[in-house]
Amino acid sequence: MFDQLKDLVSQLREVSSRINVDVIDGKSAAELVRISEDARRLIDGLRTSAIGRVGTTEAWRVGGSKNSAEWVALHTGTPLYEAQAVVILAGQLRHLPQTVEAMSAGKISTAQAVEVARGATAEPHAEERLLNLAKSSTVRTLRDEASRVIAAATDEASRHKRIHKNRCLKTWTDQDGAFNLKAQMTVANGALVMAALTPFQDEIFKQARKSGEYATPEAYAADALLALCDAKTANTTKTSRPNAVINIRVDIDALKRGHTEHGEVCEIAGVGPVPVATAKEYLGEAFLKLLIIDGTDIRTIAHMGRAIPAKLRTAVEERDRVCQVPTCDMTVGLEIDHIKPFSEGGSASLENLVRLCRRHHLQKTHDGYRLVKTHAGDRATEASGDTSEIRWAWRAPPDT
Ligand SMILES: [Zn+2]
Repeated sequence: MFDQLKDLVSQLREVSSRINVDVIDGKSAAELVRISEDARRLIDGLRTSAIGRVGTTEAWRVGGSKNSAEWVALHTGTPLYEAQAVVILAGQLRHLPQTVEAMSAGKISTAQAVEVARGATAEPHAEERLLNLAKSSTVRTLRDEASRVIAAATDEASRHKRIHKNRCLKTWTDQDGAFNLKAQMTVANGALVMAALTPFQDEIFKQARKSGEYATPEAYAADALLALCDAKTANTTKTSRPNAVINIRVDIDALKRGHTEHGEVCEIAGVGPVPVATAKEYLGEAFLKLLIIDGTDIRTIAHMGRAIPAKLRTAVEERDRVCQVPTCDMTVGLEIDHIKPFSEGGSASLENLVRLCRRHHLQKTHDGYRLVKTHAGDRATEASGDTSEIRWAWRAPPDT
């Protein structure tokens, strides 16, 4: 069986051994990445389906493995957590023929399939919408949307309770001698932690940039945790939460009703969905900004000065949680850009402001790069007043 496939793999091995990557130019290297990605998607799709079949036929029992995941880890040289993830995906895909088709056709990557399957397993009607989103947005946007779908389809209050019951914070020293810390808690409590860390993270990022040093946002977050502990130790009389702010965005109908229904959101910006009851609990707290979405509220603020009013700044920060250049994943040190420059009559309005990372802001201001609004072609999202659905294209100047 599979003689033809085996022949193809031998041919592929032979052909790739003849490619000397060290001598090809940049353009060819880019093309090679695209071709490899095509091949990888095909093979990943096939591999995932086959792993699913090993599971349903219980072929993993041969050789004494405890379960499917252990068998996969043993036979493919992958760590157990990776094997577990692909076994879960394979199981979910059994009920998601459209996603399987998109995977086998190479239209989506495995990372995208994981997010689509996660959402569509909780809410099967969302499969097609998530698949379309996968083709036009970043994995991060897709992941956020899948989380929203899951939140709308599950009993948030009982899920919240269960997660709170299982809250934990573990620390250990690993084989390498490194200190590790892992914590699990509700999104609402996690947001409190992040709101305390973020001002420190931003400050450390700014200082590092000035000195020309670069590290990952995760590294700055670790520094921020230390800085937070230092500040706490140095000044025990001061109350906690310096500059801590949490933005909760919620649909006005969900707020009135007490829970979200299909397509509505109640979430902490950049962290995830929370029950409407939790949002209400926090009402009146000084550190909370509740952004009520009803299509008229935060959208209508416009100001003709160069200065951006605080409320508008909040709305832009809340809407653009990552750099708005497609494929850019930068979340720290974001700067607000006037899409049409202030000097050319561009207003400080929600429609004309966008958050970009430092690098893309500089490219746009000095190197002739442009952000062009594209039509998402999805009237439903426009009508719901969800401004996070605006899509942008990043255009290089004509001479490059
Ligand atoms: Zn960027």
